Amino acid sequence: MKRPLIVGNWKSNKTSTEMLSWIDEAVKQKEFINIFPGQMIICPPFPYLDLFSREILKHKLRIGIGAQDISPFELGAFTGEVAAEHVKEYASFVIIGHTERRKYFLESDELLSKKVAQAKRVGLSVIYCVNDEDMFIPDGVDVFSYEQTWAIGSGKPDTPEHAALVIENLKKLHPTVLSLYGGSVTKDNVSSYMSENCIDGVLLGGASLKFDSFFSLLQALS
Ligand code: PEP
Repeated sequence: MKRPLIVGNWKSNKTSTEMLSWIDEAVKQKEFINIFPGQMIICPPFPYLDLFSREILKHKLRIGIGAQDISPFELGAFTGEVAAEHVKEYASFVIIGHTERRKYFLESDELLSKKVAQAKRVGLSVIYCVNDEDMFIPDGVDVFSYEQTWAIGSGKPDTPEHAALVIENLKKLHPTVLSLYGGSVTKDNVSSYMSENCIDGVLLGGASLKFDSFFSLLQALS
């Protein structure tokens, strides 16, 4: 049986109080969360990585932790940057090259390759986002996520058939890298992506924000 990889990207959402309520609700469903046959990773905003990781540990929740970005530089005089060493204290995963980083912060392939190198230097697993099959994926990436720009947060997902076609093509060049589909995934459509052989999991934005929608999505896969 496939063990789906479910990655929730909270983006620049939530206060610490809202995050703690999400965790409270997860604790109530701890038994289910801990026996879910797949792997779950939540990527909170940087300032909450510490608190989130302590709460997850305290409540023994089987949820992995990821950051949403990382500095392309080593530790040093780079004001405002969050270096690989900082991330590694709290997280095992990092999203690099999300569409919103490329769109609003004009991140280039060259910059993103530096970020991947920094992440790998400290042993973080990299979840790398691309929008089509022609986009460059640097060496060292552990998981790629295919998501069309227009499908993100729009309620208009790509079809499972087309997503599978793109992902199959990406896997021809990167056969050992795990794959995610991202873009308007909900509890109602998640199974159709997971039933495609080449898709190993999903990247969630909106559906990961409220615990009940995240939980219904897990239930749809159980
Ligand atoms: C995303 O931003 O990567 C994403 C998949 O968002 P949503 O699920 O809200 O479309």
